[in-house]
Amino acid sequence: MFPATRWWLVPFHKINPASKKNDMRYSQTLLPTLKETPAEAEVVSHRLLLRAGFIRKLTAGIYSYLPIGLAAMRKVENIVREEMNRAGAQELLMPMVQPADMWRETGRYEKYGPELVRFRDRHDRESCLGPTHEEVITDIARKELHSYRNLPINLYQIQTKFRDEIRPRFGLMRGREFVMKDAYSFDVSDEAAGVSYMKMYEAYKKIFTRCGLSFRAVQADSGAIGGSFSHEFMVLADTGEDTIVVCKDCEYAANMEKAVVKLVEDDQAQAPAELEKIETPGKRKVDAVCDFLSIEPKQLVKTMVYKADGKPVAVLVRGDREVEEVKLKNLLGVADVELADDKEVFEATGVPTGYLGPVSIKIRTVADQEVAVMQNFYVGGNEKNYHLKNVNFERDFQVEAVADLRQITTSDPCPECGGKLDTTEGIEVGHVFKLGTGYSESMNATFQDRDGKEKYFVMGCYGIGVSRIVAAAIEQNHDENGIIFPVPLAPYTVIIVNLGVNDETINTAAETLYRDLQTAGLEVLIDDRDERPGFKFKDADLLGIPYRVTVGKSFLKNGTLEIKCRKDGTIQELTPEETVRSLQTTILAELSK
Ligand code: ATP
Ligand code: MG
Repeated sequence: MFPATRWWLVPFHKINPASKKNDMRYSQTLLPTLKETPAEAEVVSHRLLLRAGFIRKLTAGIYSYLPIGLAAMRKVENIVREEMNRAGAQELLMPMVQPADMWRETGRYEKYGPELVRFRDRHDRESCLGPTHEEVITDIARKELHSYRNLPINLYQIQTKFRDEIRPRFGLMRGREFVMKDAYSFDVSDEAAGVSYMKMYEAYKKIFTRCGLSFRAVQADSGAIGGSFSHEFMVLADTGEDTIVVCKDCEYAANMEKAVVKLVEDDQAQAPAELEKIETPGKRKVDAVCDFLSIEPKQLVKTMVYKADGKPVAVLVRGDREVEEVKLKNLLGVADVELADDKEVFEATGVPTGYLGPVSIKIRTVADQEVAVMQNFYVGGNEKNYHLKNVNFERDFQVEAVADLRQITTSDPCPECGGKLDTTEGIEVGHVFKLGTGYSESMNATFQDRDGKEKYFVMGCYGIGVSRIVAAAIEQNHDENGIIFPVPLAPYTVIIVNLGVNDETINTAAETLYRDLQTAGLEVLIDDRDERPGFKFKDADLLGIPYRVTVGKSFLKNGTLEIKCRKDGTIQELTPEETVRSLQTTILAELSK
């Protein structure tokens, strides 16, 4: 019906090399959208991924990716792969099952904690499921890289990881099984490793920009992976599990877990007063004690009991402060810290909760740095219904360590410039670490340097949560009707809604358009179901496909199609040829941003 005027078409491969995809007919595709909001989903990305038929849960934290979900994830993978290759990294693929002995070499078999799934095979060999691959890649390096001439090198993979997360939740955001891109760099020196690190830092900025995400790179804690220096890439979203501290006056941005508290000392020195025991009947909580004694929470020190890898440790912080568990974990060098319950506190200390204090306490005790500069403060009396007054550090009690152990607040000064701080929520989508020689030393991975000497590889590691990005993109891009995919992440960029499946003219026009858009290099889903228009439009909105083309009555009337942009709702009426040309130009422009 329409002449195939395709002289203006840009060669297929220039638009999207991965687009040689098979036919995508709605009627024949597994695309089970749901009308109802699934009850188990707490955040919007989880709800929409289920409703739009992207994922289905198998068991806690473990999902199947249905065809459209996989298509979206492939988009992320392709961007990641392109930018990693462009940065000079080489792709490989390592096994998911790893021998325990290799993890023993680095001491992580014991240290990693319950997130590492351990099992025995039929020959009784201990193994684990890879939550990350530093050991395996270091083993490859020590066997295959012998000389400085092999360096620098950066090796990466895109692979399924398993971590037995304590609280898997929010769908793809925190799964137990998830897809990660992990890269590892090997260098001759610290300086060279710094160059590799910066290359990845820059590649990550490109990746997240190309994914259409609004993000920020922040200073981060190095956690169980270890290392000396790291940055996290955070997608800014209310549902993020991480809190980011940002300075309003300088460039400082850090994960709350890592943000260093600058100690501000009280400049009015008081003479130490005499220690007094005071009765506080039934007053266990900070607020109740303060009300009863007419004092401020900042005049009191809380004694919190944690289980550090199962063993009790008391932590002292000012009454109005919160313990930062990551800082505590790092200080104690343990895999896991958890607040003890009332029964455990009593078993460990012999004191009922609410009355515990540091004077003559029976368990290991550490203190936040602020406690060491407080004067004449209040603490629990280590006896039911009693507190102590005029307590002073060192005179009345000692601790095993004094350190920065509390959470930063917006009333603290910026640790870099002293300016005002603000907080925002974020989803961690990437993490870059300078590892140094920790792994190469413990696994004896060396190369021969220019001077003929054997040296340890200086390493870096770099992760991206590929499946998490799909969820993060939806958290940032949606409305009440469904997903609004940024073009580069959209599983299809165009959906054709055929409103005349039983009308020969409309049907032929829709099918011709389908072919022409595909020939133009676009990824197209055609809704060829014999359903009501409203029903089809609802699904198109839910799926979040950036452009919807409706072939219906207006085509019969005046030969035009309706093109609707999912993001801003704008509508254009164009002929089929104009439609192909316009969509091709617009989508190509979006993809090359
Ligand atoms: P988190 O603090 O969120 O647990 P992590 O610090 O343990 O993350 P890394 O070890 O740095 O994460 O892993 C690299 C990337 O893998 C993270 O930046 C994140 O995007 C992703 N990731 C980590 N854990 C999960 C998970 N349980 N589900 C989905 N993605 C994850
Ligand atoms: Mg983790």
